[in-house]
Amino acid sequence: MPHPVLSALDLSSTESGTYLGNGEWSGDTSAGVLQPVNPTDGEVLAQVRATSAADYETVIGRAQEAFKVWRTTPAPRRGEAVRLCADALRRNKDALGSLVALEMGKSKPEGDGEVQEMIDIGEFAVGLSRQLYGLTMHSERPGHRMYEQWHPIGLVGIISAFNFPVAVWAWNAFVAAACGDICIWKPSPKTPLSAIASMKICNQALKEGGFPDIFFLINDAGTDLAQTFVDDRRIPLISFTGSTKVGRQVGERVAKRMGRSLLELGGNNAIIVDQTADLKLAIPAIVFGAVGTCGQRCTSTRRLFVHASIYDSVVEKLVAGYRQVEQRIGDPTDAANLMGPLNSADAVQAYLDTIEKAKAAGGTVASGGRALDDRKGHFVLPTLITGLANDAEVVQTETFAPILYVMKFADLDEALAMQNDVPQGLSSAIFTTDLRASERFLSAWGSDCGIANVNIGTSGAEIGGAFGGEKETGGGRESGSDAWKAYMRRQTNTINWSDAMPLAQGIKFDL
Ligand code: NAD
Repeated sequence: MPHPVLSALDLSSTESGTYLGNGEWSGDTSAGVLQPVNPTDGEVLAQVRATSAADYETVIGRAQEAFKVWRTTPAPRRGEAVRLCADALRRNKDALGSLVALEMGKSKPEGDGEVQEMIDIGEFAVGLSRQLYGLTMHSERPGHRMYEQWHPIGLVGIISAFNFPVAVWAWNAFVAAACGDICIWKPSPKTPLSAIASMKICNQALKEGGFPDIFFLINDAGTDLAQTFVDDRRIPLISFTGSTKVGRQVGERVAKRMGRSLLELGGNNAIIVDQTADLKLAIPAIVFGAVGTCGQRCTSTRRLFVHASIYDSVVEKLVAGYRQVEQRIGDPTDAANLMGPLNSADAVQAYLDTIEKAKAAGGTVASGGRALDDRKGHFVLPTLITGLANDAEVVQTETFAPILYVMKFADLDEALAMQNDVPQGLSSAIFTTDLRASERFLSAWGSDCGIANVNIGTSGAEIGGAFGGEKETGGGRESGSDAWKAYMRRQTNTINWSDAMPLAQGIKFDL
């Protein structure tokens, strides 16, 4: 019997991981299986058949055919297709949100929130489908018109991380679909069921609306198919979300074939709390940023810089806040719980190893610091570590777990220097009521991150802005603002409507 959360979405205990187009899911069993595990109890949720090499070729061939049709479909009509998907997701929000919570291990409100992000970016993309604007320029030649236009780029490969099993796909796929592209998704092997459910919901909505296939799905039991995908010259854009380690390889491989990559990689996000900060705002934002999603967001707060004059009181308040969270750790699908498990046994080991390294480097565990081995699943305590310097190896590294390093500073210059002195550059925040401090933080010589917030934490982001970060976070931007341009190719056009042929540099041929 499948888990009731799977049944609610018409998923069974054995599922195909390959959507081939034309309403067909592959029956090929030759490529092995993925076994997504429920992080709350360690039990396998279902068997998902991986994509064979032959099926991969079918997907690419059909996606190429689909592109020929989709690129000629007017953009507002493409927007209508995305609107139907967003509506279908709205109808299925509760069920899909529960599956995300079950399979990834985030809380039920966070699972629902992720589906809401899919709906929101869908609506954004509907509007966008009427706003794919180019510029016009004044030509230097008489009787000439110059302008630029944006054309669909083609096939878009989307590789996603386990921690946002559905929203990352929608951020990419809905914008890309409005732009006229065809998307092929390879989700994380830890969360294939959320991907299959999303595809079924959206593809059914497209079919009922009389639209062709624009979204395809592949799954890889190892990494061979993923690498083939990355190296495939038929896919002009690979949008990759995941660790810096894998993203670096992906970026290099795509560059080698002169493709385009959009990289959304790891973060090492910091909050600065200065002596004027309103702690009523700061403390909940820090706790939520560090322990929310069990520290498994790319934007999770990992470093905290506190002005020396309020350091002791901030640490005391955080310890009290962490005690409250400790009382409410458990099954993430139970809305009473504030913190769920880590996603895997490997993640628990990485958490424990990091705490040992932090202690060896001179750090003190001010709260938490251990796994909860009195129960099944991958539960740990949220952890505060004091006494380390910003340049300690563990502080410089993203450990995907609820560990927060708390450090002291004497003045804002010192705090900013420490904040920026890490390899990553995703999200940052300052809590202050001092206008000068806030503007300094946001200035060109302030935070070097892709996201910089004032009096709001590092974690999460609204879909309306462009999302992404600098340095080892990869430099990509997706979701709102003009991030759509990554999914299109720009063409500059010059039209001569005069009766003369002025050649460049005043050159004349006597013809
Ligand atoms: P991961 O790098 O282990 O895996 C990400 C994806 O890459 C998965 O789909 C995986 O199957 C695939 N993959 C693995 N090896 C590959 C290869 N050789 N070629 C191509 N694809 C390959 O990351 P994860 O553990 O799933 O996710 C956590 C990481 O993702 C964290 O570092 C987190 O910060 C980052 N992340 C970043 C963002 C962002 O927007 N910046 C968002 C979410 C997660």
